[in-house]
Amino acid sequence: MIDTDVRKLFILEDSIQVDRHVRVIDNSFIFTNEKGKAISKKQKITNELITHVVTELVGEEALSIINYLKGKKQISEFIIAEELDLEIHLVRNLLYRLLEFNIVSFIRKKDRIKGWYICYWDFNDHMVPYLAEKLRLSKISKLKERLEKEDNNTFYMCRTACVRMPFEKSMEFNFKCPECGNLMHEQDNSRTKEFIVHQLKELESKKKIC
Ligand SMILES: [Zn+2]
Repeated sequence: MIDTDVRKLFILEDSIQVDRHVRVIDNSFIFTNEKGKAISKKQKITNELITHVVTELVGEEALSIINYLKGKKQISEFIIAEELDLEIHLVRNLLYRLLEFNIVSFIRKKDRIKGWYICYWDFNDHMVPYLAEKLRLSKISKLKERLEKEDNNTFYMCRTACVRMPFEKSMEFNFKCPECGNLMHEQDNSRTKEFIVHQLKELESKKKIC
């Protein structure tokens, strides 16, 4: 959903040429309120929101890097590794995973003495509300799909609850549980549906961020 890499060249004031890696953001995406009307993209970037987005998209292990980059500018990956006492390969791997979602970006500068390139990283905090909104919408659509499945199927379950399957599939097993052999019976899924509806309402009213 998030689009292709675009690589642009920038000339800095001190005439060092650097690559700035940027990505084009999906412009079709619009923030909406609970009534589906387009609203401003401004949303508070809280620590809770940052943690949620980074954990969901990349994983908890990337949080220390983000927390370290917060409020800093153009930090070398070697510094990050040193300060966080992590292997440089692990740091790079996490940074590239964060880059996939534009949570971070980097510039490459040539070290004039050593002659090699070093990447300097920034945390793009402005991406956080955008990504949180995408996550919310994707969860809503998954829950709607699940609710539809619950509405359109009759589910069968065995007494010890080892399996739960739709009618057609349970017929294949002659209504006998493939795990324990007990007879499966029709399950009232109204509680399951209520739970999904409740989750949907919370996500749609933005009471929950995840
Ligand atoms: Zn069973």
